[in-house]
Amino acid sequence: MLKIAVICIGDELLKGSTVNTNLTFIGERLTREGAPPVFAQEVPDTEAGISGALDRALAEADCIITTGGLGPTADDVTKEYIARRLGLRLEEDSETAIRIRQFWKMRHHTEEIPSRVFNQALVPVGAQVVPNEFGTAPGLILQGPGGRKIILLPGPPGELEPMFESGVLPVLREEIQSAGQVFTKLFRLAGAGETDVEDRTLEILGKRHPLTAAYCAEPGLVRLFLNSPDPFVLNEAAADVQTVFPKELIDPGSATLAEELIRLLRQEKAVMATAESCTGGLVAKLLTDIPGSSDVFLGGVVSYANEIKTGLLGVDPETLRKYGAVSPQTAVEMVQGLAERFRCDGAVSLTGVAGPGGGTPEKPVGLVYAGIFWRGETEVHELRLRRSRAQIRAWAAASAMNLLRLKILAK
Ligand code: AMP
Ligand code: MG
Repeated sequence: MLKIAVICIGDELLKGSTVNTNLTFIGERLTREGAPPVFAQEVPDTEAGISGALDRALAEADCIITTGGLGPTADDVTKEYIARRLGLRLEEDSETAIRIRQFWKMRHHTEEIPSRVFNQALVPVGAQVVPNEFGTAPGLILQGPGGRKIILLPGPPGELEPMFESGVLPVLREEIQSAGQVFTKLFRLAGAGETDVEDRTLEILGKRHPLTAAYCAEPGLVRLFLNSPDPFVLNEAAADVQTVFPKELIDPGSATLAEELIRLLRQEKAVMATAESCTGGLVAKLLTDIPGSSDVFLGGVVSYANEIKTGLLGVDPETLRKYGAVSPQTAVEMVQGLAERFRCDGAVSLTGVAGPGGGTPEKPVGLVYAGIFWRGETEVHELRLRRSRAQIRAWAAASAMNLLRLKILAK
């Protein structure tokens, strides 16, 4: 596999004011090409920072991609430093100078261009220029020690992304392919823990070679990545995943549980609604984040106060008095009252203690009841969730969506 290192340069990345989306973008694109980066590093706009990262990249990688530090201002030092390090003189690239002039005129409606902007037309001798249609700093492809390519790209994602697609990938593709690719397939598994997923994946890893796995958990889902240089092995492993995780594996077209639930409801020509207490409408939010959810989602009631549970959902005040708002009985009455009033095929209700306060020994923080209604049948599930208020709410919402998903599948 072609070993590619990524160095992201910019003070803002380390100070936490800019999220490093360039690495996400490059990582995702290179993975799809069969050469995920072997390492990445974020460094400030200093020669010391860049030189340290470059030393490691030259020792460990066959190709280096840097992002950022190519602007016209004095804080951007990437090009000057790397050119000096490679012993390359800077000279003006006339095409880039013309592009910069045109771009500046179009953007600023003036022929007067600050001279330092033209510093961006200075390129190391022998560099291959990657034109920048959306800004003034060109990308540069340099030959480093041992014929390693060193590729410099500007920081703004709106400039870097199209340049990477049109100017960098076509140059790298041949090298990636001749070095041998590693293919990756991503599977999303709902309702199983990370360690459970690993245990069951070991069975697949035991019989398919060469194959490696990586796991990544988020509320309600585990992402399972399977990697292999052999596409045939990967396809067989994908079939295994279906067998090993028949209930957990969601459709590859669904990136989230909400998308998967909407897909299933649409397939069933069904509509659903939500009655949420401790999640304050989070399930409704996650569903309506998806364009076109109005096909299957009618709406919801955020029944935070008891009066709303009784008044809008028809929960019996006696139930609340006897068992409390956080109880299986209340969750059942919430979801049944909702389904009656909304005349829907499916419904979920959530009531629980999101914390950080309000827990008791009998009803601790993280205790949540989920009511699930599907075509005339109701069930209730007790969830014991942990960590912060945000985490408890996220897991409660994900669990409710997954429980309704399973109920639909079971029919
Ligand atoms: P540059 O002048 O080439 O250093 O790029 C600076 C601009 O790009 C600033 O707006 C940064 O916030 C943005 N930027 C730089 N690096 C990144 C990165 N890794 N991810 C996202 N944005 C970035
Ligand atoms: Mg910068």
